Order: sequence, then C-alpha cells, then structure tokens
Amino acid sequence: MALRQIVYLPEPVLRKKAKPVTKFDKELQTLIDDMIETMREAPGVGLAAPQVNIPLQLAVIEYAEDEEEEEENEDAPPAKKKLYVVINPEITKVSEEKVMGIEGCLSIPGLVGEVERHEAIQVKALNRHGQLFKVKVDGWMARIFQHEIDHLHGKLFTDKAVSVWKPTDDDETPLD
Ligand code: ZN
Repeated sequence: MALRQIVYLPEPVLRKKAKPVTKFDKELQTLIDDMIETMREAPGVGLAAPQVNIPLQLAVIEYAEDEEEEEENEDAPPAKKKLYVVINPEITKVSEEKVMGIEGCLSIPGLVGEVERHEAIQVKALNRHGQLFKVKVDGWMARIFQHEIDHLHGKLFTDKAVSVWKPTDDDETPLD
C-alpha cells in the first residue's frame, strides 16, 4: 500500500463528474487500499477517488457512529469504526427530515461550513468485488455518504453551505 497525493481546489478533477467503475481488477484493489490508507493518515472520515486525482465513482468511508459520545466519556468502550467501500453509488431513498451540520473537506483545507443534509438515506452501490449492496445510514454517517457522493458528481460542500468560515480550535469537524 502507498499513500496517494490529495488534490486541492481548484484542481479541475474535483469539479468533473466521475466515471463509473467497470473493471474490478488488481489495479482497482490497489487504488482502494491506497485510498483507505490515505484517508486514515490524513486523518479523515471519507475520501473520494477524485480527491486523489482519479476520476472514478469510488469512495471510502470510515467512521465510528458513537465517536462523539466516546470523547465525552473516557470510560466508554472504544467506538467501533465501520468501513465502507462504495462504488458507482446511487441514493435510492432520502428522509424528508433534513439536518444542519458542520463539514470540512480534505480538498478544501482551512475552511468549514454549515450544510443541510438529509438525516437518513438509502444507498445502492457495488463493493470492491463488484457485488451489489444496499445500506441505510443516518446521522453523521448519512452526512458523510452525501458529502462523498457529491464529490463523485463534482460537487463540494461549499456549493451547498449556508455559511463558511475558517475554523478555530472549537470547531472539531471530521474531514472528508
Ligand atoms: Zn470532501
């Protein structure tokens, strides 16, 4: 495995619609492993292939649902992180309920913003072996999925944010 270089705005690849993955070959497996390593190293909770200059519909997501709880209570057992490899994803259902939250992006360093997202979504995608899976996610996990899927369509959180600002030490926002 190797780290990949994360690209930043205004790199054009971040604004292009990514192409569907059609070949589940060794090269793709290497890319996925590299992206997972790069996301963990950053550190981030998600990384889309265009962020490492590869215009493919592929994203990796890793987040522990009760991470925030854990920080508040040191005695809590360590939160279990869930890793998703999401290929050619499609959002098939969204909750009516929308929620505001603060997002940052590894490709837009030094900026965070308040973004409205669906509270819960259902996603249909392929796994790293090309097998179809469906997943229902809510809360922060749903927010990360929506952020990453936006990346695959050339969209960034700053397009949707109601306000953006330079973070201070008080803004502990996971990046993706
Ligand atoms: Zn991002």
